[in-house]
Amino acid sequence: MDIGQFIKGMPKVELHAHLNGSLSTKTLIELGKLEYGESNNEFQRICESFQQKQEFTLEECFKKFPIAHALTKTKDGLRRALLSVIRDFALDNVVYLELRTTPKTTTKMSKTEYLETVFETIRLASSMYPDICVKLLPSIDRSKGIEFAKDTVHLVLKALKTHADLIKGIDLSGNPASGSFNDYTKILSEARNNNLKLALHCAEIDNDGETYEMLQFGMDRCGHGTYMSSQNLNIAKEKQIPIECCLTSNVKCGTVKSYQEHHFKNLYSSKHPVVLCTDDSGVFDTTLSEEFIIAQKTFDLKKKDLEVLSLRAVDVSFASPLEKEVMKTKICKYFYD
Ligand code: 5GP
Repeated sequence: MDIGQFIKGMPKVELHAHLNGSLSTKTLIELGKLEYGESNNEFQRICESFQQKQEFTLEECFKKFPIAHALTKTKDGLRRALLSVIRDFALDNVVYLELRTTPKTTTKMSKTEYLETVFETIRLASSMYPDICVKLLPSIDRSKGIEFAKDTVHLVLKALKTHADLIKGIDLSGNPASGSFNDYTKILSEARNNNLKLALHCAEIDNDGETYEMLQFGMDRCGHGTYMSSQNLNIAKEKQIPIECCLTSNVKCGTVKSYQEHHFKNLYSSKHPVVLCTDDSGVFDTTLSEEFIIAQKTFDLKKKDLEVLSLRAVDVSFASPLEKEVMKTKICKYFYD
C-alpha cells in the first residue's frame, strides 16, 4: 500500500479544529444556497476565490470566518454545518475529535441556544457517525473582551451539569493581536479550578512577553507555539506542555515560511510532545490525512513515527482513560494486524 493510502486509512486523532473554520467550500456553498437562494452566484464565487487562495496573512484569514458565521447563525444552519464537519472528519478516518467553537449570540439564537444546539447535534452525530467520538472545547474569543469570556465560562460550567461527558475543556483563541492575556487569567483559573482543561493559543504571533506570561500561568496544551524564544521554549519543555502543530495553517498564513522550516521538526526530534492538527480545514483546504502526508514527506517520517505521533495524540487528548484505551486499541490494530 502506498504511504498516502496508509495514512488515509489510519485511525486519527484531531485535537485542534475550529468548527466555523472547518466548513469545506462545498458545505459553505450548500449552506449558502439554503440561506441566500439557489441562484446566488456571487456567494459561490467568494467561497471559491478563498479556496483558490494559497497564501493569507493572519488578518486575512480572520476575514474568512464571518462568511461561515453568517451561515451558522440559525439553529438549522449550525446543525447542518456541524453535521457536515463531523461527517468530513469521519470520512477522513478521524476516530476522536476535540472540536472548538465560540458560543455566540446571533440575530437568531442566544449564546445558550448556540451551545445547546452544538450539544444536541454532537449527540445526534454519535448515532449517524458511530466511528467518530466527538468532544467539545468551547472557545473564548479574546477579541470579544472579558465580560463575554466570563459569560461563556459561566455558561459552560452550568452546562457541565448535563453535558460533562462532552465538554473537555476551554480554548482561548480569536485574533491573537487583540486584548491582553492578563485580562483572562482570572476567568481561566476559574475554569481550571472546575476541572476544565485549558488549550490556549499561545506564541501564535511574535510577543515574547505574553508568551512568557501564558507559559507561567500554565496550560494543558499549547495551540501553534510558533514564535517561541529559546527561553520560552525551555519553559514549555520543562513543563512538558504538548504543542498542537498546524502545518498548512501556519504556512498559508505566513507565520512559518515553509513546511521545511516548521517548528514541528525540532519539537518532534527532541521528543517533545507534539500533535499534528488541521486548525481550520475549510479555510486552509486541508484534511488531517493531508497534514500527516505533508509531515511524512517533508520530514521523511517512517511508519514507526506515524504510530508514535498517533499514540502521542491519544496521550495528550483530554479523553477519559477508557476512551484512550479504545483509541489505542484501534491504532495498534491498524499498525500491527
Ligand atoms: P468558531 O469558534 O466560530 O466555531 O470558529 C472560528 C473562530 O475560531 C474564529 O472566529 C477565531 O476566533 C477562532 N480561530 C480559528 N482559527 C484560528 C487561529 O488560527 N488562531 C486563532 N487565534 N483563532 C482562530
